[in-house]
Amino acid sequence: MKDTFKHKGLRQQLVNVIKTKGITDESVLKAIGNIPRHLFMDSSFLDHAYQDKAFPIAADQTISQPFTVAFQTELLQVKRGDKILEIGTGSGYQCAVLCEMGAKVYSIERQQELFKKTSKFLPKLGYRAKKLIFGDGYKGLPEEAPFDGIIVTAGAPFVPKPLLGQLKEGGRLVIPVGVDVQTMTLFIRKGSKEFEKHEFGDFRFVPLLEDKN
Ligand code: SAH
Repeated sequence: MKDTFKHKGLRQQLVNVIKTKGITDESVLKAIGNIPRHLFMDSSFLDHAYQDKAFPIAADQTISQPFTVAFQTELLQVKRGDKILEIGTGSGYQCAVLCEMGAKVYSIERQQELFKKTSKFLPKLGYRAKKLIFGDGYKGLPEEAPFDGIIVTAGAPFVPKPLLGQLKEGGRLVIPVGVDVQTMTLFIRKGSKEFEKHEFGDFRFVPLLEDKN
């Protein structure tokens, strides 16, 4: 598991690319500049690790495009110490970004193979989530609610009600909603039943799957 000056240089270029695409949150840019993304991918993709592209990981899933990770994280407005729930642990890259930013991260993954692999891998890099859970993200994590922020990293055909209910007042849910194409959507909880909704254009994610699929 090597992280060389070459990797660091490529990472700085990647940070510049996502800056030119509109990301301004310094804490997000710093996290992406620090995390060895090449270690989250199979070795055959090493050369691609610092391009602004999504790539396949195990179990037919993908590691999201760095711009998308940055965009979603910026919408979450993470502060040090915030309690954040991620749906779709996948490679663990997004989880590492949140850990770098000082969040207390809970992350759920429904693919056992990925859950096992990432649970072993993240601590080796020094990223310690509060809890990695093998389970169904549609249900959220009621036993640890409420959260300052919830981030869904798979395309949701609809907004799961439990996720809205597990936000603190002022808390934010960032979720790509749609079947073939997803609209990046931000919900901010304003009261027990009041939510503000904002939409931010189209993205493409692997689907958020229901339990039995
Ligand atoms: N955040 C990940 C992106 C992984 S892609 C990263 O940084 O690499 C989306 C992930 O969501 C996949 O790993 C997929 O298995 C998972 N997923 C799909 N449906 C889910 C569900 N209902 N609950 C939890 N995870 C789910």
